[in-house]
Amino acid sequence: MNERNLPEHIGVFDRQQIKDMQGSKYVQSYSADALFHAADLVKKGIPVLFSGTPCQIAGLDALLAGHPDNLITVDFVCHGAPSPGVFSSYLTELGKNHDGVPVKTFRFRDKRLGWKNFSTVAVFQDEQVESGTQTTDPFMRGFLNNLYLRPSCHACHVRGTNSAADITMGDLWGAQQVYPDKDDDRGLSLILVHTERGRRFLDECESLKLFPVDDLNLFKRFNPSIFEPATAHPKREKFFAIYHKRGFESATIARLLAPPGRFERACNRIRHLPKAILRRLPLGKRAEEQ
Ligand SMILES: Cc1cc2nc3c(=O)[nH]c(=O)nc-3n(C[C@H](O)[C@H](O)[C@H](O)COP(=O)(O)OP(=O)(O)OC[C@H]3O[C@@H](n4cnc5c(N)ncnc54)[C@H](O)[C@@H]3O)c2cc1C
Repeated sequence: MNERNLPEHIGVFDRQQIKDMQGSKYVQSYSADALFHAADLVKKGIPVLFSGTPCQIAGLDALLAGHPDNLITVDFVCHGAPSPGVFSSYLTELGKNHDGVPVKTFRFRDKRLGWKNFSTVAVFQDEQVESGTQTTDPFMRGFLNNLYLRPSCHACHVRGTNSAADITMGDLWGAQQVYPDKDDDRGLSLILVHTERGRRFLDECESLKLFPVDDLNLFKRFNPSIFEPATAHPKREKFFAIYHKRGFESATIARLLAPPGRFERACNRIRHLPKAILRRLPLGKRAEEQ
């Protein structure tokens, strides 16, 4: 994370520095500089491993007009990336609610409550800590409900078997049901190998404990992002209309994601009524067919 608490790609040249990259950040990362640097190194014949979202990997291939042998690319199963502006605004709200003390660091995937019940942790400048879960942290709720993913994420076509990467990594959500004996709630990753180069690379990673997944389709209902882009929440536009006026407010998330009340349900029914009635009328049927 950079000094503004936003994810930014960096290049590292020894093992020690890898820890600076670790941890999923559920925000669109800034990758332009790193993409150009990586492309330069690759052109000079230096071996490079580049990791990022599927679209960032596709971008690197486009920059290089191909996929040279000294480049290994790793993307991840991507639900979509939230807007960095929305995340920054959320951090501002957290600071305001904490007597104006700004957030120093924010972690999205703390595993102290386990891998499945992952939690967020905000550490403030005064070293106080506030944590939430994927169901109570308002930013995570909005993210997982597709309220503020980038618009392009909803039309993503570079995932799954269309990935441009050598290897795709993700969470093996559903392991509890499909491979209960392998699940110790410390985290199981899914690795998809797309190319021969990716296969050779994986074979060299001797310390990994691997087991084959017989049928990837079994995981579809647990991790749909492997196969298809997320659909925008019907209230996405409403969220942005409010956000542009007032910034991120946890109360807005709670209101927009609350189950529809009686009034909203009645309005929805009325909104769908004319079509239903029309469909029943022979005249309406003909009009719809035309
Ligand atoms: C926006 C986003 C959406 C995701 N959606 C899903 C999903 O729907 N299903 C699923 O199975 N997995 C998803 N993942 C991947 C999942 O979070 C990781 O596979 C898992 O947490 C790996 O954990 P780890 O501790 O093994 O590795 P980590 O140490 O968390 O490694 C993650 C790698 O991704 C890089 N990275 C982190 N954040 C970003 C970012 N914003 N942009 C580019 N690169 C980044 C890190 O630098 C690191 O190399 C998503 C990740 C992101 C960033």
